Amino acid sequence: MSSRAGIGWDSHRFEEGRRLVLGGIEIPSERGLAGHSDADVLTHAVIDALLGAAGLGDIGQHFPDTDPRYKDADSMQLLRSVVAQLGERGIAIVNVDATVVLERPKLAPHRDAIRAALAGAMGLPDDAVNVKATTGEGMGFVGRGEGAAAMAVATVGRRG
Ligand code: MG
Repeated sequence: MSSRAGIGWDSHRFEEGRRLVLGGIEIPSERGLAGHSDADVLTHAVIDALLGAAGLGDIGQHFPDTDPRYKDADSMQLLRSVVAQLGERGIAIVNVDATVVLERPKLAPHRDAIRAALAGAMGLPDDAVNVKATTGEGMGFVGRGEGAAAMAVATVGRRG
């Protein structure tokens, strides 16, 4: 089975009155991320990594942020839709590794729940999905608390 890798990167601004949703899990936080959808920056990076590995473009082509259908969209539903598209093409996901970059809150208490939620949406065992978290060490837009970013790498293989 030949394998292919894809990368994903995303960032969103923090805003008062928004929820902070990462990997489909709502994280208690004073501020959340702003965006057309639920602004789940981690899930968006994972989606782009999967689309990249499958050679299927990017999240903006599949779910335009100008389309009212995706206003406040549940990004985990978008992820499930991408996983289904890969499945229809005979493409199996091997593993996903991701890093969330944000200054606060701390993600450690939520990491297992995020991992399990992403794995569930992709039909993978938890150990095929890894979620890491780091800060900006006070530097740049992450360090100043202006926003959060996420990056992901996915490996896929063709069935049969
Ligand atoms: Mg995004």
